[in-house]
Amino acid sequence: MGKCPKCGEELDSLNQICEASVFYRWYLNKEGKMMSEMVETDPQESTEWLCPHCNEVIATNEEQVEQLLQSKDKGIPDLETIKEVYPPYQDD
Ligand SMILES: [Zn+2]
Repeated sequence: MGKCPKCGEELDSLNQICEASVFYRWYLNKEGKMMSEMVETDPQESTEWLCPHCNEVIATNEEQVEQLLQSKDKGIPDLETIKEVYPPYQDD
């Protein structure tokens, strides 16, 4: 499970928000009562995926989403890297 690069929370899902235009038709019915009905929606393609924890945009395509959900935590160096940076102190 990957982690959010912005807030560091574990990601089991990402949120995608699609904007859409919604049109309503307003009219008077047989009894002369004002009515409205939704006539059309026009969803726009979205290229923003948000972290469900901090709501920051953290991916702009599906590949990135997949990587974020799969990637292991890269924020903490593995043990071999730590040994190279901090060699054990030797007393001679
Ligand atoms: Zn986040």
